[in-house]
Amino acid sequence: MRVELLATPDCPHAARTEATLRAILEEEGGEQHVSRMLLRDLDAAASAGFVGSPTVRVNGRDVMPAVGLRSGLACRLYRQPDGSFSGAVPPEAIRQAVQRAREREEAERAAPGPLDTMRDVPAQVMRTGFLWASRQEGLERFATSTGVTRGLVERFVAGNDLEGALAALERLRDAGLRTTVDVLGESVDSEKRATVAADRYVELLGELHARRLDGNVSLKLTQMGLEVDPAFCLRNVRRVIEKAAESGSFVRVDMEDHSKTDVTLRIARQLHGEYPETGVVIQSYLRRSADDVAALIRDGIRVRLCKGAYDEPPTVAFASKAEVDESYRVIMERLLLEGTYPAIATHDERLIGHAREFVEREGIPPDRYEFQMLYGVRRDLQQALVEEGAAVRVYVPFGHEWYPYFMRRLAERPANVLFLLRNLLRERRGSVTPT
Ligand SMILES: Cc1cc2nc3c(=O)[nH]c(=O)nc-3n(C[C@H](O)[C@H](O)[C@H](O)COP(=O)(O)OP(=O)(O)OC[C@H]3O[C@@H](n4cnc5c(N)ncnc54)[C@H](O)[C@@H]3O)c2cc1C
Repeated sequence: MRVELLATPDCPHAARTEATLRAILEEEGGEQHVSRMLLRDLDAAASAGFVGSPTVRVNGRDVMPAVGLRSGLACRLYRQPDGSFSGAVPPEAIRQAVQRAREREEAERAAPGPLDTMRDVPAQVMRTGFLWASRQEGLERFATSTGVTRGLVERFVAGNDLEGALAALERLRDAGLRTTVDVLGESVDSEKRATVAADRYVELLGELHARRLDGNVSLKLTQMGLEVDPAFCLRNVRRVIEKAAESGSFVRVDMEDHSKTDVTLRIARQLHGEYPETGVVIQSYLRRSADDVAALIRDGIRVRLCKGAYDEPPTVAFASKAEVDESYRVIMERLLLEGTYPAIATHDERLIGHAREFVEREGIPPDRYEFQMLYGVRRDLQQALVEEGAAVRVYVPFGHEWYPYFMRRLAERPANVLFLLRNLLRERRGSVTPT
């Protein structure tokens, strides 16, 4: 892929556009070379077909084609997703151009056979397939024993051990981002494993405090033994909460599939009664969520709002993206108006843009809410929001038990799957060594 940044020597937006461009190329995987071209005079501008600074081209095409502009050395203004204008090239335009180019490359390179078939599978079917695979232990054994997924796993998971995670947390802190840490693991089938998981959180909270890192963690109840014995699970989480209380840390109870919603809300409510720095998660895809949020607002419990990452039947969840997004918008507005420090957890630029307009219109100050995103996803957007003064928290998972988490990330975006398939095909041809 040929990626070019064209700019005049004094362009104030060139450096920021280049940083965004590099972050997107890194996230999308593959080659990351950016050719820079400085346009110093009108002749050079005319021969390059340059219509203003900065300009980004992918494979020779302007990522935001300029209609009716003549060549020259002027600055360019770009319409941003929130409707405002700025001199920086909108990251989403770059991303889409990179993704289109990458997908064209994939199409040309791929061997006939599985990839062709996969490309025709609608995204929804692919999502269901990956979510099904996320629950298959045989596939988990295969995936975790080969090296094919390693590159992509590293993008979403901050290392196998605590030291790796702590280094990532320090990097994120230095970049102005807040964090919440998840010790990967879920659906444990014995009290012994659940006890070990709680021990890891206790150790983690101690380290976060000792290193003066953000004391904020996220955990799953099935990791704490919910499916073994709910009473045991409550005692186990309480150990984590008691450790968190020593340093005033915050504990978020993640939300799992719909069969756990009632019990998760019940346990979170009970824990919040004992320790107010406990919060929970609401998924906008569930039809019940508007009612659940109303009750959580009444109780002053902090809510993280996300769309939802599991495969749910249409009886309990909205099936179309439009309905899930609309439900998200409605709940988000309510939380912003009436909730206790809500967390707007999404990478959806339209919803984030809507949140920004809404808080502006309603006069909601920036210290009353925060945005949250996943480690390795839309780093450009995370950074751009921080630069604009918003509070952004990154969800940082680490540990060996990455398989179900990773598969949910694949299910969220077909381009991730194509990237993985390319590695699998390479392995079949012998260029990736299984470990
Ligand atoms: C902080 C945080 C905590 C979460 N906690 C929970 C939880 O407790 N329970 C739960 O069910 N779900 C949880 N989720 C996951 C969530 O439910 C969604 O599955 C996930 O965030 C994708 O939805 P989206 O809002 O980003 O919107 P989408 O419409 O899915 O995506 C919008 C855009 O974001 C980008 N994007 C989204 N996902 C990916 C990805 N995997 N890789 C690359 N780009 C991507 C793409 O550019 C995409 O176009 C959490 C998400 C976040 C950010």
